[in-house]
Amino acid sequence: MFERILIANRGEIALRILRACRSLGVGAVVAYSEADRETRAVRLADEAICIGPAEAKRSYLSAPAILSAAIVTGCDAVHPGYGFLSEDDAFAEMTRAHGLAFIGPPPDVLERFASKAGTRQLLERHGLPIVPGSEGMLRDDEHALAEAERIGFPVLIKPSAGGGGRGMRMVRTPRELQQGLPICRSEARGAFGDDSLYLEKWLEENRHVEVQVIVDRYGNGVHVGERDCSVQRRHQKVVEESPTPALDEPARRVLNEGAIAAVVAAGYENVGTLEFLVDRDGRSYFIEINCRIQVEHPVTEMVSGIDMVAEQIRIAAGEPLGYSQADVQLRGHAIEFRINAEDVAHDFRPQAGTVSAFVPPGGPGVRMDSHLYAGYEMPPYYDSLLGKLIVWGPDRPAAIARSKVALGELVVEGLITNIAFHRAILDNPAFVEGSFTTNLLDRVGSAAFVAGSARS
Ligand code: ADP
Repeated sequence: MFERILIANRGEIALRILRACRSLGVGAVVAYSEADRETRAVRLADEAICIGPAEAKRSYLSAPAILSAAIVTGCDAVHPGYGFLSEDDAFAEMTRAHGLAFIGPPPDVLERFASKAGTRQLLERHGLPIVPGSEGMLRDDEHALAEAERIGFPVLIKPSAGGGGRGMRMVRTPRELQQGLPICRSEARGAFGDDSLYLEKWLEENRHVEVQVIVDRYGNGVHVGERDCSVQRRHQKVVEESPTPALDEPARRVLNEGAIAAVVAAGYENVGTLEFLVDRDGRSYFIEINCRIQVEHPVTEMVSGIDMVAEQIRIAAGEPLGYSQADVQLRGHAIEFRINAEDVAHDFRPQAGTVSAFVPPGGPGVRMDSHLYAGYEMPPYYDSLLGKLIVWGPDRPAAIARSKVALGELVVEGLITNIAFHRAILDNPAFVEGSFTTNLLDRVGSAAFVAGSARS
């Protein structure tokens, strides 16, 4: 096991990783930017080190700053959290070259799964159904048009280095395709420094269902069930739950078993998530893999009792998995709410400022992962996540009932938040029935929910 881990991230995930280090008896150093000096993880850490100014490029995205911080504080491993450098194979390689362990997949594995277009083809060869789409990356506009005609409109233009729902565009006609390609290319270049694109058939009504896997260095792997992340706004997750209400038990088993068999065969290592779209008829199509811990991992922790971050650290340290699929028992139902500092009534505008009061909810099955405290100053430089409320119940109706109580108790003052918006989602009939698809929020134009949340 490692002796000391440098946590190269911020906000709630830095705190979450710190907790995992503590429970494993491993030392932890928190790396922070000047804007995060007063954050909770920094206050609680054994040691903390400033790695640069607020601007992420010069701190959380700066490999030299992070690696020198790890070396001077005597760390033997780096945990990148999610976002920032968490899936960067060049950073993983540099970490290793400096004699440190990268807590995530090894660089060659990250590289193998780096391109979304390439991963589609790789996992299809290992038995996963994929959304019909272009063969690999688009070479030019002519190739794009030929592929779109072959697949059939409407199609979705996707950046191969994509993430966070950015740079995607649905087009219905050849003309829209022609107009959309340069826009997507420049968005992708700006967001990911890589403008390669591919096409997928547009699935009109779909659910987003993803499978959590854990695979050790020796090829032993388990799945830890699936999460449903169909409550999205502009392709970004808002509420996640497990198990999915979309599939029955046999269909869930087929999805989970197919996913773990395919990634083990493709040589994956560490914790990871395989994302699928499920169509109206219950058919699943693989869309992408995330080679890191995800924001929504606590949903899985609540139904499985497995500490996903501790598992990730153990596996990166070379420990064998030590249990088999039969040992993974999933119980009850869990739902996660992303609590954001955003003004729902004004197009979800992100907020910054000082938190004057913070009172997390409690009671059976209620967990709040948050770095907030009264007096915390939310910096304007990063994402608007204030924390995550995760609620467990023996079944879905019980989890929903407890969630209403918990959201009613949660107090965040000083900033505009989306707490009331979450309460409105819980009252939505399609959500309660479990029959919603990924366009639930966008179709009703979040306006209906905004009106609902304004009343509550
Ligand atoms: P990113 O990596 O940017 O998050 P994903 O490929 O994971 O992008 O897709 C994000 C979301 O976009 C999905 O959850 C789904 O709502 C929507 N989406 C992706 N692919 C398709 C598709 N082929 N048809 C319809 N919707 C899609």
